Amino acid sequence: MHEAQTTKQPSQFRQLMAGPLGMVLGVVMLAAAGVVIWFFFHGTDAGDASANRNFMCSETNKPFNHRIEDGETYPIISPFTKRPTGFPAERCYWTKDGKAKLNPTLVILNTYLEKDGPTICPDCGKIVRPHNPPPPAEAMEEAKQANRQS
Ligand SMILES: [Zn+2]
Repeated sequence: MHEAQTTKQPSQFRQLMAGPLGMVLGVVMLAAAGVVIWFFFHGTDAGDASANRNFMCSETNKPFNHRIEDGETYPIISPFTKRPTGFPAERCYWTKDGKAKLNPTLVILNTYLEKDGPTICPDCGKIVRPHNPPPPAEAMEEAKQANRQS
């Protein structure tokens, strides 16, 4: 009696899979595939947007321009070392005395270099974030004025 009950359970499970539960699982899997496809196309869009952005060689600290190809991963080959030491660089437009500047300092984020903690700009000491926000428009305008006067 007891044995009959335990052997019954797997077939119940199979029935469920063929029935409503199987349907639900099928829909979930279709949705997951849709998400993957969306990310795939969204990903290539993001790649286009970041194409030709500034890169920096982590060994020579020299900036260079590069167009990311499909499937290319970081680090990319640096033209200076000819080895994969090229990383995307964030721009920091701050000066040491808290003013804006027109020529940004390029900084490689710690996450790319697999270092812990926040990325600190070597020039001004501020924290550099992904898609680093530029100084407020007034500060940038001030920097332009100062540039014009000099
Ligand atoms: Zn800085």
